[in-house]
Amino acid sequence: MKKVALETIGCRLNQYETERLAVQLTKLGLNRVDFDADADLYIINTCTVTGRADASCRRAIARAGKNDNAKVVVIGCYVTVDSDKVAALNGVDLVVNNDEKERIPQLLQQYFPDLFVDSFRAPESALITEFYQHNRAWVKIGDGCNQNCSYCIVPMVRGGIVNRATDEIIAEINNLILSGYKEVVLTGVHIGRYKHGRLPSLTGLVEDILNKTALARLRLSSIEPQEITSDLGKIMYDGKERICRHLHVPLQSGSDRILESMRRPYIIKKYLETIRMMKEKIDGLVVGADLIVGFPGETEADFGASVKAASSGLIDYLHVFSYSDRPGTAASRLPGKIHSSIIKKRNEILHRISAENHRRALAREIGHTVGAISEHRPEKGDSYFGITDNYLKIAIPENQGGGKEIIRLQVTDVIDDHLIGDLV
Ligand code: SF4
Repeated sequence: MKKVALETIGCRLNQYETERLAVQLTKLGLNRVDFDADADLYIINTCTVTGRADASCRRAIARAGKNDNAKVVVIGCYVTVDSDKVAALNGVDLVVNNDEKERIPQLLQQYFPDLFVDSFRAPESALITEFYQHNRAWVKIGDGCNQNCSYCIVPMVRGGIVNRATDEIIAEINNLILSGYKEVVLTGVHIGRYKHGRLPSLTGLVEDILNKTALARLRLSSIEPQEITSDLGKIMYDGKERICRHLHVPLQSGSDRILESMRRPYIIKKYLETIRMMKEKIDGLVVGADLIVGFPGETEADFGASVKAASSGLIDYLHVFSYSDRPGTAASRLPGKIHSSIIKKRNEILHRISAENHRRALAREIGHTVGAISEHRPEKGDSYFGITDNYLKIAIPENQGGGKEIIRLQVTDVIDDHLIGDLV
């Protein structure tokens, strides 16, 4: 049996797409192995969201390219932006851009027939049943984005929104439940704009999933602030035993002037009101946000507005990004570029605020009972860490960790960036 190794760089959506491709290739007779093992075929699913992502992709391609006897295939967003450059990298045998991603199994059979036992065969259903080496699974509900934020390359590489059929999503979640998964994370580029057939909204999809599956824990991935409605708040409240008390809501800047220049369709007052509304409704809700520092034209006052938002007491952790030009985006052509030393300083300030906010969120849990799912592998040594429904990290006793089950613990204390507790 020929061996395939797959590597993903970038977002959860990319990871989902890799899993789906792995299912198709397994059905075509390939055996999946780890990326650092010997394989006959290496597939690298790339990202191009930043220059750093491009560099990670090139490193992964170089690692795979060292194996002279293997075929190296590169797919995904980096290829879509710059296929010639990727195709010219040492060792690359084939590149496939996002427009052709649905045809990858066919293309592989066409270009590398020796890897497949049978003659050409169209892949069967590509619903995933496993999320390789993960105890929580991600399910794609849609692709693409229509928003065109000025710094973002995604709409150019993934196109406009295309949502996935509800029945397929439900069938995939039911598959994952049969494989033992307790938690599924709904993912996509712009999940708040979900609608399909009879379902008019993301809230409708969440309701359908709760009604038609026995899923224990449903989590939403990143959602735009303007798409958090009171209906969504209500269903998260009503379904709180099964819907994770966690939202990741990109903010990007606390300054309305910068938000406008980023083409983000909200103002800071509205953003904070929305988060406050959700926090008042749902006890223990943990909210994370993305913030970009050093966007072109960001003054000290603009940065001060971001600091104020980050310190509002409403945001529990931050993902802080230092702005860097992404060629091809509108922002890369804006004047007023900020010096890297200032960007670094601003990044450090927000990191410190994030750490304080996170510590407060952890401390709020002392005395509460939480349900945690282990990450697949121990992080350090032998001890496992798990993730609570409200996205906090907790140590899990060694003999209990490693599986997909929800483990109940009473929180007793906070150590560094995580909780500790006793089994209940
Ligand atoms: S909402 Fe904005 S940042 Fe997010 S994918 Fe769409 S264009 Fe990019």
